[in-house]
Amino acid sequence: MSRWLLSYDSYDPAAEGVKEALCTLGNGYFATRGAAPESVADGVHYPGTYVAGVYNRLTSQVAGRTVDNEDLVNTPDWTALTFRIGPEGPWFDLDAAHRAGHLLSYRQELDMRRGVLTRIVRLTDPAGRCTQITQRRLVSMDQPHLAAMETAVLPENWSGPLQVRCRLDGRVRNTGVARYRGFSNRHLEVDEICEHGDVLCLRTTTVTSRIGVATAVRVRSAAETGRRLLREPQAATWELSLDAVQGTPVTVEKVAAIATSRDHAIEECAIAARRWAERAGSFDELLERHVLAWDRLWRRCQIRVDHDDTQRILNLHMFHLLQTVSEHSVDLDVGVPARGLHGEAYRGHVFWDELFILPFLAMRFPEIARALLMYRWRRLPEARWAARRAGLRGACYPWQSGSDGTEQTQRLHLNPRSGRWLPDHTHLQRHVGLAIAYNVWRFHEATGDTEFLAEYGAEMLLEIARYFADLAVYNRVEDRYEIRGVMGPDEYHDAYPDRDEPGLDNNAYTNVMTAWVLRRALEVLALLPPEREAELREDLMLTRGELEHFEEVARKLKVPFHDGVISQFEGYGELEELDWEGYRARYGDIRRLDRILEAEGDTVNRYKASKQPDVLMLCYLLSPGELGSVLTGLGVDPGPDLIPRTIRYYLPRTCDGSSLSAVVHAWILARTGDADSWRFFQEALHSDIADIQGGTTAEGIHLGAMAGTVDLVQRCYAGISTCGDTLCIDPRPPKEITALRLGLRYRGHWGIDLACDHERLRVRVRPSAASPIRVAHAGRSAVIDPGGCWEVPL
Ligand code: BGC
Repeated sequence: MSRWLLSYDSYDPAAEGVKEALCTLGNGYFATRGAAPESVADGVHYPGTYVAGVYNRLTSQVAGRTVDNEDLVNTPDWTALTFRIGPEGPWFDLDAAHRAGHLLSYRQELDMRRGVLTRIVRLTDPAGRCTQITQRRLVSMDQPHLAAMETAVLPENWSGPLQVRCRLDGRVRNTGVARYRGFSNRHLEVDEICEHGDVLCLRTTTVTSRIGVATAVRVRSAAETGRRLLREPQAATWELSLDAVQGTPVTVEKVAAIATSRDHAIEECAIAARRWAERAGSFDELLERHVLAWDRLWRRCQIRVDHDDTQRILNLHMFHLLQTVSEHSVDLDVGVPARGLHGEAYRGHVFWDELFILPFLAMRFPEIARALLMYRWRRLPEARWAARRAGLRGACYPWQSGSDGTEQTQRLHLNPRSGRWLPDHTHLQRHVGLAIAYNVWRFHEATGDTEFLAEYGAEMLLEIARYFADLAVYNRVEDRYEIRGVMGPDEYHDAYPDRDEPGLDNNAYTNVMTAWVLRRALEVLALLPPEREAELREDLMLTRGELEHFEEVARKLKVPFHDGVISQFEGYGELEELDWEGYRARYGDIRRLDRILEAEGDTVNRYKASKQPDVLMLCYLLSPGELGSVLTGLGVDPGPDLIPRTIRYYLPRTCDGSSLSAVVHAWILARTGDADSWRFFQEALHSDIADIQGGTTAEGIHLGAMAGTVDLVQRCYAGISTCGDTLCIDPRPPKEITALRLGLRYRGHWGIDLACDHERLRVRVRPSAASPIRVAHAGRSAVIDPGGCWEVPL
């Protein structure tokens, strides 16, 4: 199987949703699911097109309450196309043909290297006429507003008239996630549909955010003998009449252009979309430039492992990452949705998942990583306001973010097992702010982009640090600072079993990362030009007293312990042990243990059972040296055993209810030399392709886990970390990988080539005008000049 192909050789309606998500094509501006062109949303198929940053808010009645939710909007379907033989035959429908046994063969193939989705279907009909349909589709990586589909119909044993219907469909709703079907879902109003020559243009507006979304389609065929326009209230269709001759393919091209009122350099979105559709080249012309654009991207994404299946899935993961955020999203003021632009799960919201995504981007496409940080910077005023409303200083970022940076976490969620709507307290995951501060710091380390740090990064870091320093409350009796009433990354524990109000005290991850961020906040001022430092101090009214307070909190935050390990939160040690074997025996898959227990009338809050790594996230984010130093600074002696003991304690008490879990476990185990790392890595790799996350891939890919697997190879197995101005390399490839190669961008260099096996490490710096770089491995370091090479035994 090729490293660049994802292919399907049969049609299986039950697997269609996952296939659509995995075959999504996008370019960072918009993405379209890989749904069959003749299909509509019907429970098997779900055509969906999402434009980055196009959100809309609707109010719904759920469980007797009025709630409102902001969703990434499913915009008009540009792909719809079907055909029939003769003027009376039935319109082609994949499912009808499948049920009738008329499908002779079926193949769908995603070519990741070129960004092309191809479907080849052969079918027959009751009259014995055999037809082959070959469809190729792209969403242009070259021209971000354009997409195209070419349909070739080959009459194998017949000749005669053929009709093709190409619809532009504005009847779309957001109904892609079954759990959300009780919510309002009509996000678009159709303003007008008009025709201009061979172009149809549909202009819509989102009903509350009032964003104009225009989709234009141009339909052409050399074999056309006539066409008519079929108008419906919210859709329009070109019906083409064609003459088909046995053995000769008849080709129809549908080119789409999308524009929104959020775009730059346009007068009005419908005018722009129509113009772009009219001017667009043919399918082949678009394809040529599109493939060139992908070539460029792949040259910058070099990650090679000598393990074919792993390589193929890594390619798939990079492919979907680059389709969600790209050079075309840099100017859009968008964050990275947890489920990509591939479906409607989590409503297109932005979580802390960029923590898993930014490191890969920072060392290949720093401009994209920077743009994602700018999305956060532009929402700093809203985060400040959230802190102020809570009576605190600084900036409190929302757990789920959408258009404007206000909190978008839903207040109720459905347990599909019990059918009950339950309060959702996950907004108490204040640690999202710590992730943003951490990203700012690591971005600067990886890129040396001091302008970003001076203009934007330092301000965010200081304001986040300030919020957490203020959130920490002094406990006189213990002479410690405490952070109370929050949630850690483990979303299963949201309250104490015997307390009325939600939230937990002294979540170790939050407290230790707060100490780490406060220390970086103290250091960041010294990294700025003195003029900018003075400006920031003045602007933020940052006094020496406040900085001393940062330092004191960073020394005195409480880290709870029980049984000789770090407690996930205060009181964790008193929770009951779960009967893991009993639950596994009874339920098999217990990833969603929270739902299982709630449906039993119990609560996961009573047990030592976590959804995903919480304390252990510390070992994922911080190097052993950094973690040791921050713990020592907090008066905790880590000794040689604390961390290994803590890892051994939590691993069997975590049920991997999040796709991020396996990435983190694979990482931690690799760094402690445990061969089980490979098993977790493989689980993370197969998470979406084998749909093992509770069957939710159809609702959108898990982008954090996808990017996390690539980053795992890059930073964990190849062992790259950025420490100040040094590139530290400590490769730990698993035994299953015998050779690993990376091409990186680092601090002004576009070409750092790294190769390692289990014996040797070689770093080559391609010739350029950039400054020499400092590299280090196992206590040895070197300065490599552009054009130079460094080789060490492992
Ligand atoms: C995880 C979170 C994650 C979110 C979005 C949840 O299931 O628990 O950590 O941010 O999914 O991917």
